[in-house]
Amino acid sequence: MTDPFVESPVSHPPFVYSSEVAYGCTFCGECCRERWRVPLDEPTCQSLKQRDWNITALRDRARQDPNFFAESIPTLSTRMAFRNEQGQCILLGQDGLCQAHHHFGAKAKGVVCRLFPYLFVEAPEGIYVGYSFCCRPVRKPQELKTATNILKESVEDTWQEAKNFFPGIHYQKATPRVALGWNIDIPWESYLLLEQGLLTVLSRQGAPFRYLLAAGYYYLNLIGLFLKEFPDRSMEQIHQRVSHFVEAMSKENFERVDRMARRGKARMGLRRYVMSMMLGLHQAGMKARDLRDSGKGRGEISRLSLMRAFFGHFGGRSLGTTLPQELLSEMAGRYLRHVIWRKGLALGSSLYRLGGLCREYAMLLVMFSLIEYYAGVFASGQLGAEEAICEAIRVVERDFVLHAGKDETGPAEQDRDGYDLFLSLFDSLVHSKSFAPSILRL
Ligand code: SF4
Repeated sequence: MTDPFVESPVSHPPFVYSSEVAYGCTFCGECCRERWRVPLDEPTCQSLKQRDWNITALRDRARQDPNFFAESIPTLSTRMAFRNEQGQCILLGQDGLCQAHHHFGAKAKGVVCRLFPYLFVEAPEGIYVGYSFCCRPVRKPQELKTATNILKESVEDTWQEAKNFFPGIHYQKATPRVALGWNIDIPWESYLLLEQGLLTVLSRQGAPFRYLLAAGYYYLNLIGLFLKEFPDRSMEQIHQRVSHFVEAMSKENFERVDRMARRGKARMGLRRYVMSMMLGLHQAGMKARDLRDSGKGRGEISRLSLMRAFFGHFGGRSLGTTLPQELLSEMAGRYLRHVIWRKGLALGSSLYRLGGLCREYAMLLVMFSLIEYYAGVFASGQLGAEEAICEAIRVVERDFVLHAGKDETGPAEQDRDGYDLFLSLFDSLVHSKSFAPSILRL
């Protein structure tokens, strides 16, 4: 019997697409106007240098410096990035199109530019095609529906490229076992059953998404407590028990977890503490990164700047918002369900990653609160509620969930200790009964 986790040289599992989230590049140029560093790989750099830039609006720049489009960033795995000027990639033309793509074809773009926003997870049952919500039509499906010009791309070629050139966020492989928490590992098949159960809990109508999120939290904690009862567990036995649990919860229409969500008691200050630490870490991290990129610092987060940022938020403005709850539930719900569907709880490499399904799910509750917080900040500016929530999801996806790693916007890996300090304190809170109702303001 072939081991499903060992690749077959000839064929590959079928591509699996989400029923809720779709993608097509509408040439909006938003990903080229991001503040992240777009890694530039050596082969692309060499091929762009050979191009005839005289036919483009960048002819003068190219005459002055054949490397005009490149910038050295030692912390990136490619050690180079596309030059970013006035908040956008230097190759983004006034027409909003990438000049390399426009004049020399899609293959002339950098590998990461060709891979974004695809996130492939290869598993025995299929290759899951997930997307980054930093891509505008992924966040705003209406724009995809009404777009007249959509880039023709081969998912097969993009998957091959991600697999061969950019393992990390764009390509990951499923693991035979997934850590649940409580030192319990479950087989991949059991994880898929639990994921399906969780997505069913989170897709129900008629309740604000924050209650569904809390029900999901108790759902995962209950399976953990259930499996802890059986110390003698082989993978087969665990799978039987997980199947039994998922079936039983569904049969009672999730009554038990809904009851726990309704009865949850919030604890004063817990949410403000966790949010202030997350916002403080982010603020101090971005400052450290900017100092490093401007050559004025090594990129480490000083404890002092972390404490200052933490207390700034802890004592600062209300972290609550008055956004339309139905709109927030719909937009944040679609995003966070996709994070789970694209295997973001089981796999990933963000700086805020804790490891273990229950802790990752607990962090998802914090991501919901961060979306609410940022949407409140943006809505108090000029943005309408929908655009404010859309922007908040982009910031959370970029800076906390998907692109918050060494290769993207985050500070360098070596100053993880600031994060470890917070994450160990976070750990002490995650299993407290009041965690979910506090973070979700139930
Ligand atoms: S990949 Fe997405 S964000 Fe980038 S230009 Fe295309 S549609 Fe816009």
